[in-house]
Amino acid sequence: MSGNFLDGNAVAGPLSDVFEHDITTMLGECAHCGNVAPFAESMVFGAPMGFVLRCRKCSEILAILVDRTPRRRLAMTGLRWIDITE
Ligand SMILES: [Zn+2]
Repeated sequence: MSGNFLDGNAVAGPLSDVFEHDITTMLGECAHCGNVAPFAESMVFGAPMGFVLRCRKCSEILAILVDRTPRRRLAMTGLRWIDITE
């Protein structure tokens, strides 16, 4: 995938309101290619309304965070699962 993007650390702040634990180290499986990686390795594209997280291996969308304060909407349609370990 070409273009400027950040890594998954860019969404750690906005998602800290959603998840109790640090999401950057959480593992997730891409529903498109089966790649298992921590959030920090995803490609994050900023948009005026939020963030798009893409798989670093296949470039498909993992999750979309729409931030229209005070409402935030998180779609995780490209993640088969996430591992939440205390
Ligand atoms: Zn993938």
